Amino acid sequence: MSIKSINKADVSKITSGQVIIDLKSIVKELVENAIDAECSKIELNFQNYGIDFISITDDGKGIPPEDFESVCLRSHTSKIVAFDDLNNLNTLGFRGEALNSICSISHRVKIKTCTEYPKNYELEYDNLGKLSKSQSKIGGGFSKKTGTSISIEKLFVNLPVRFKNFIKNSKREFHKAITFLTQYLLIYPEIKFSVFNEINGKKSLVLSGRGGAKTSVLDNMITVFGSNGAKGLIPISLSINEDIKLEGYISSYSFGLGRSVTDRQFLFVNKRPVNLKKLAKIINDVYKLFNHVQYPIFIVNIEINPSKLDVNLTPDKTFVMIHQESEVFEMIRTELSNFFEKQDNVIPKNKNR
Ligand code: ADP
Ligand code: MG
Repeated sequence: MSIKSINKADVSKITSGQVIIDLKSIVKELVENAIDAECSKIELNFQNYGIDFISITDDGKGIPPEDFESVCLRSHTSKIVAFDDLNNLNTLGFRGEALNSICSISHRVKIKTCTEYPKNYELEYDNLGKLSKSQSKIGGGFSKKTGTSISIEKLFVNLPVRFKNFIKNSKREFHKAITFLTQYLLIYPEIKFSVFNEINGKKSLVLSGRGGAKTSVLDNMITVFGSNGAKGLIPISLSINEDIKLEGYISSYSFGLGRSVTDRQFLFVNKRPVNLKKLAKIINDVYKLFNHVQYPIFIVNIEINPSKLDVNLTPDKTFVMIHQESEVFEMIRTELSNFFEKQDNVIPKNKNR
């Protein structure tokens, strides 16, 4: 066969399938957009575990009318204009791919948005991310505030194998998405989260966080893991070098958990949930020096100067590369060890054996 170009709609389907792999990735992209819009509230509604319908509503700054045409186009973003802007990145998104990918692999995408209450707009986008309908309205929907509501009908309907798989494993996929979402609830305690799922017309609350300036990471640990969820956690704040700070909570070494608790070990880089297995291992190894029989819970955010970080390794940005990573990790090992050495609740190192 000679070389021919693939038609636009199919290129879009092929590449979009890598950004939106599963329900978890769609939830991630939509929640990150709401956070980037500086919201204080996020409500997610699923119907039938997301098979029939997903919507997300935030009270962020909204999408201005001049962006309506481009908001769902591929590589269109309000967050960067050039590659070098990644050196000062302070948003979770920047690739301008998510909304376009969602359009390409779902039946219909609708957006309601408001930047100046009471005027708001209802928009519809086709599979290529082109604006297909736009209607302006006065009042309603946004409780006198700005905000955006995005709804998606029939996710994956255009990718037959994935669609069937999603339907077959919808409960498991839903659970995975909610578990992932929990990480944002923990690290953004000031945001009021509510998540509902509706099955056969019955709506139930799946996850919620109170939000507001007074809600802490520890409060949300209790919300998610129950009243013992935050027991024994102590604040940690380490300055690693002029570009890197580590902050959060970790189990005091006299109060770990008796089993491996990887489901309660959370690592973030600039409040982005990340997969940094090497660093997680270092934290566990240091903890082991002080408590030989238990494991720590931790929720740790590493604040790094964006110019010392590459978050562009995978479309979902959960793998990150840190400048001089090995050296940085060894510095963290030393600082963490010093931190535990200095704890008030020092117990003899052999007591727990
Ligand atoms: P990215 O987040 O990488 O910019 P997306 O496809 O996720 O790409 O979003 C495209 C653009 O749409 C964003 O840059 C932003 O300007 C706008 N946008 C998306 N969701 C929201 C939202 N909830 N509130 C305000 N603007 C949004
Ligand atoms: Mg985005």
